[in-house]
Amino acid sequence: MGFWKQRQIEELGRGYYSVSKHVCDQCVTDSFLQAVVRTNAENRKCDYCSRQEDNLIAAPLESILDEIVSAVKADWSDPDNEGIVFDSREGGYQVELLSKEELFDEIEWPTENEQLMDDIVNAMVDDNWCERSDSSYELAAARKTGWERFASTVKYKTRYVFYREIATSPIHLDSGIPAHQRLQFFEETLQTVDLRKTFCAGQAFHRVRLHGTNEFPNTSETLGPPPLDKTRTNRMSASGIPVFYGALDAETALEEARIHASAGQPMGTGSTFRLLRPISVLDFTALPEMPSAYDKARREMRIELMFLYHFVTELSKRIDMDGREHTEYVPTQILTEYIRHFHKLDSGDSVMGLIYPSSMQTGGKSIVLFLTASDCSDQGSENDHHTLVLENYGTPTKLFEIDTA
Ligand SMILES: [Zn+2]
Repeated sequence: MGFWKQRQIEELGRGYYSVSKHVCDQCVTDSFLQAVVRTNAENRKCDYCSRQEDNLIAAPLESILDEIVSAVKADWSDPDNEGIVFDSREGGYQVELLSKEELFDEIEWPTENEQLMDDIVNAMVDDNWCERSDSSYELAAARKTGWERFASTVKYKTRYVFYREIATSPIHLDSGIPAHQRLQFFEETLQTVDLRKTFCAGQAFHRVRLHGTNEFPNTSETLGPPPLDKTRTNRMSASGIPVFYGALDAETALEEARIHASAGQPMGTGSTFRLLRPISVLDFTALPEMPSAYDKARREMRIELMFLYHFVTELSKRIDMDGREHTEYVPTQILTEYIRHFHKLDSGDSVMGLIYPSSMQTGGKSIVLFLTASDCSDQGSENDHHTLVLENYGTPTKLFEIDTA
């Protein structure tokens, strides 16, 4: 067999044509492919950005094409390989087909360099792609739509007995995972990633209490979690169920409180509570980086994490307190209650709260602790039942006048 014939057979088999160009890691946006470029670098010059260095910076384009095409093939295929019926009277293949460009729109483009985009697309042998019947992409999509389905079920359909919702089929991929299965997936996801963070005794948590001009709160009772009858609905707790909302720094606590200040409560008093014993929480600001869509070894991890990222976005979403909060907060309230009452660490212990990114302060970390007023004490009155003690009892740490105009 001649050289060209042999090469053509090889190209068809692997799914991409040969391209004799070199690319550097700066021309690729995907972190996994950047690493592939660095491992395979054999040229001092990149053909896409013309960057030239003394050391080897550019790898053969084929080294990343190989990863891209094999990752694509894990979830997508040529319709002929999938046994899809072609019916010319019915308009061709009886399944939704994606062009190569549409395929990358769906997965995620690995570069922003237009020439490189063109070269990748042109190098791929197959023009049309359909989802593989054994694809986990379908499951990922179902998990994603499952979130929306869960939120819409508990917001607009059934809030207190959703776990009895009857499924039309075990996992109905078109309409997403039924709300009652959502908690099971949530638990599996929490088991997959270790978000545990332990705080030692002495750890400070900051809080700001809003109040009227003539009030001077300075005790654990007036600065800590509110009494049951004054507990309003919030991001992670339904009305009537008290928790301790705070932040890991004073500035974040103030910014989170400021948004709720009103003409009737224009003042805020800051306070610091300290832990009397070690506790563990789940730290949702420490989610692992989302694995690349082209990293085949970590595809499952990507599906799991997609779900937790969605949860964290919901935790940090800014919601106007105009009445809609009563429904908008329901999905995160339910998942937080799940963590509080059912999730267990490897040690068998429950977690005492969760850390989440502040919606008001970039980089700020907010915290919710599953503690009530009776878990907090004034300095000098602590006993074994208390978990937090108010620092500087009788002297507010800081008083803010919040501009409500
Ligand atoms: Zn380059």
